[in-house]
Amino acid sequence: MPVNEVPSSFGEADVLDVAVVGAGFAGMYMIHRLKGTGLSFRAFERGDGVGGTWFWNRYPGARCDVPSLQYSYSFSEELEQEWEWSEKYATQPEILAYANHVADRFDLRSHVTFDTEIVAVVWDADSAFWTLTTSAGDSVRARFVVAAVGALSAGKEPDIPGLESFAGMTLFTNRWPKDGVDLTGKTIGVIGTGSSGIQVIPVLAEHAREVTVYQRTPAYTLPAQNEVYDAAYLAEYKARYREHRAKARSTRTGLLLERRPEPALSVDEAERRRRYQECWDAGIFGCTASAFSDIVGDIAANETAAEFIREQIRDIVRDPAVAEDLIPRAYPFGTRRVCLDTGYYDAFNRDDVRLVNLRRDPIVEITPQGVRTASAERRHDVLVFATGFDAITGSFTRLGIVGRGGVRLEDVWSEAPRAYLGLQVSGFPNLFTVTGPSSPSILSNVLVSIEEHVDWITELLQHMADTGARTVEADPEAERQWYEEAAALVEGTLYPQADSYFMGTNIPGKPRVFLPYMGGVNAYHDKITQVARDGYTGLLFDVTASSRAAVGAEGR
Ligand SMILES: Cc1cc2nc3c(=O)[nH]c(=O)nc-3n(C[C@H](O)[C@H](O)[C@H](O)COP(=O)(O)OP(=O)(O)OC[C@H]3O[C@@H](n4cnc5c(N)ncnc54)[C@H](O)[C@@H]3O)c2cc1C
Repeated sequence: MPVNEVPSSFGEADVLDVAVVGAGFAGMYMIHRLKGTGLSFRAFERGDGVGGTWFWNRYPGARCDVPSLQYSYSFSEELEQEWEWSEKYATQPEILAYANHVADRFDLRSHVTFDTEIVAVVWDADSAFWTLTTSAGDSVRARFVVAAVGALSAGKEPDIPGLESFAGMTLFTNRWPKDGVDLTGKTIGVIGTGSSGIQVIPVLAEHAREVTVYQRTPAYTLPAQNEVYDAAYLAEYKARYREHRAKARSTRTGLLLERRPEPALSVDEAERRRRYQECWDAGIFGCTASAFSDIVGDIAANETAAEFIREQIRDIVRDPAVAEDLIPRAYPFGTRRVCLDTGYYDAFNRDDVRLVNLRRDPIVEITPQGVRTASAERRHDVLVFATGFDAITGSFTRLGIVGRGGVRLEDVWSEAPRAYLGLQVSGFPNLFTVTGPSSPSILSNVLVSIEEHVDWITELLQHMADTGARTVEADPEAERQWYEEAAALVEGTLYPQADSYFMGTNIPGKPRVFLPYMGGVNAYHDKITQVARDGYTGLLFDVTASSRAAVGAEGR
């Protein structure tokens, strides 16, 4: 439906109560919750289908790295029981099928305008409405905007001289062609060895004639130890699904994983190795970092985990020189995203996989034939870019958001990306940033964090409907305090020692600030629940004349 034909409960053409941007897991759940509120709403999605991350990242080897049974919605017991995950770590097609199933089962699709990119979101203080403009030039007004645009959805584009001159095929993991690509017999260069690069490389190696991996920063990656779920395990898990969900929400990560309370150096070496081996064999994201209390807090503790992983790399990779190049040393374990892989290090034992260490031999340019590094030009039929994301803030700052007084969100966040509870920004009334900065976001099982945010927003909207509040925004003082509270948690940890997308340092010009809230999903839940219970402390409400005067004071 064209946006200018959106029905409205305000009786005014083109006016919605709520505009949702994005139809990934966050936007989809937001739609589901809004359906029960009586508010008018519509979602706008750049792609032509639901699923977000899993709609775009179709590269071979793409999988979740939180177990499928946990990386799924918890809001419907029926859904939980009827959906059958086939593997511990589902592939992208399976997760996308799940997203489509959810969209059909809960009739979400009819509420989304697809193939529609929002390029501007501008606040009008007089009417207290946002105007959203699409890339086609259509516009729609809405009282509230829920930006469900994804913490890992704004891609980081490669900035390498000569990129446009390449005569072969150029592919990006974060927008892989929908119909796939036959790479059989091709000579492929892969640039980037973060999570996506690590997943795609072993699969490419199976089909290509030759794969050259251009690596600037080696990752710490552990084997996913993926497996097909057997029926008995699924039945047993599902019988206790509610219990598992509640337990996961009570942890720091939103995963069924408890951080062990002892410091690493408080036990002997044999016990440390036993625990690290257990984690290596279990293939559970976050396991090693949780094996002791101080892995991301103390460098000596951290080194014990890092060294264990380095030993495994030396064990797997037969060529000692290649193994040394694959070993991460320049940053502490866990301070960049730890990856789970399927056969990554093994791939370097193949004769047809080569590693180029860009620290020693940097890329000079991309040529029509391939890639020229300081030492040589290598010819490729295909270049695959797995260059990552402008994480957490990128998809919000690219949305063209202009708040009160004509202030742009990208300017406000240029030095410090502040958002009260990660959800609301002072000066940007009635705007919600799902999995935004200073919330657990991508430091957690993101599905848990999405449901937490969407539920909270829905309750706040309900509260505003009940109280007649017209606008809500973060109190600048509460926003500042929350930002400082979140920043204080990171001080004294090892995170700031790494250049990472958590620190914003992968994007030129981005402030060097730790972006997610590291206090844990559990502590964060307690905080935002308490805020709501106390009448939304830290939020400022503007109550219309027709509403009850007393409510305004209560709302502050
Ligand atoms: C390869 C990969 C693997 C991952 N694996 C895991 C995992 O195992 N566990 C985990 O917890 N997390 C994982 N993540 C993080 C993942 O992004 C989240 O788990 C989750 O899917 C995010 O959902 P979302 O709806 O918030 O955002 P997204 O899924 O990113 O959806 C956002 C949507 O907004 C749309 N959009 C953005 N801007 C605009 C605009 N201006 N106009 C219109 N539409 C717009 C996008 O097209 C997109 O469809 C992974 C991420 C990637 C990239």
